[in-house]
Amino acid sequence: MISTSVRAGVCIRNMAGLASFSLLRFLFQTRVANNEEAVAKAAAANADSEAPTLFDKIIAKEIPSSIVYEDESVLAFRDINPQAPVHVLVIPKFRDGLSQLGKAEERHEKILGQLLYAAKIVAEKEGILEGFRVVINNGLGACQSVYHLHLHVLGGRQLKWPPG
Ligand code: AMP
Repeated sequence: MISTSVRAGVCIRNMAGLASFSLLRFLFQTRVANNEEAVAKAAAANADSEAPTLFDKIIAKEIPSSIVYEDESVLAFRDINPQAPVHVLVIPKFRDGLSQLGKAEERHEKILGQLLYAAKIVAEKEGILEGFRVVINNGLGACQSVYHLHLHVLGGRQLKWPPG
């Protein structure tokens, strides 16, 4: 028979284990968040460069990608670091000053509509029309890390609100 003091000891050990696991998870999440901010800060420093972006290189097929949808104006490919079972990026093939949504001008109305419609086509192709999210991170405050406008299409799991 297990004595009361042994049971109490096991219970305390379990609680201590849980506390240290929670602490480790907190430290890991803080580190990931800090790293994300550092990457975003570095990217923001070159936000208005005319040099080809990472996504220009994907469009030019200099960098491989897993393409989900493509037409003459838009390319959609899987995110390399997916945050959901479906995570696809939709980008304009011609950046034309659209490093971020905040740079949009009246002349961009057509491509902005095309990007949004392509997001819907991607959701349909991926079988997530019943529930999906479209995200645009704009600028340092939203941890944008690539300065070539892109829509994130996310789905395939229950998404929570508010996002982080
Ligand atoms: P954002 O942080 O909103 O600027 O999003 C940039 C996204 O690009 C991130 O989700 C990255 O995971 C993604 N990404 C970076 N490099 C690649 C790549 N080579 N192929 C696909 N996605 C990428």
